[in-house]
Amino acid sequence: MLEALRALYRDVDALYEGARCEASTECCRFGLTGREPQVTSIELALVQQAIKRRGGVLAKKKRALPLTDEASSERMCPLLDHGGRCSIYEDRPLGCRTFYCQRAQLIAAPTRQQLKAVVRRLQDLAARHAPNGDKPRALTAALRL
Ligand code: SF4
Repeated sequence: MLEALRALYRDVDALYEGARCEASTECCRFGLTGREPQVTSIELALVQQAIKRRGGVLAKKKRALPLTDEASSERMCPLLDHGGRCSIYEDRPLGCRTFYCQRAQLIAAPTRQQLKAVVRRLQDLAARHAPNGDKPRALTAALRL
């Protein structure tokens, strides 16, 4: 099932092929964007697998430095590393793959129908992964970090 999720992610990435951004890391600072990725249990399983493969959760000193003096208001993703990179990039959730800020340059943005089809595929996978129901949760709450 995780392989089906990876296939879904590959299809999503193809929809954004050629997209370019400044890699400012602001999109991984939830206090700045006002949004946080919501993850289903199957996405969480892949994230947890990636964290384990990497040797565990990043120690606080290895996490990204704040951009502003008011660090606490930035609410940085705990998976953002000191070098300003996502430490689980290949396995990041759908919400991270589909969010581009206004400064990003998209060669061809996916249509609403394409995105809806992606979400439907994810919902189907999530329902099979958690047959008794699955409710997307905020990434940090789901990780308890
Ligand atoms: S999981 Fe990775 S891409 Fe997503 S918000 Fe966290 S650091 Fe950013």
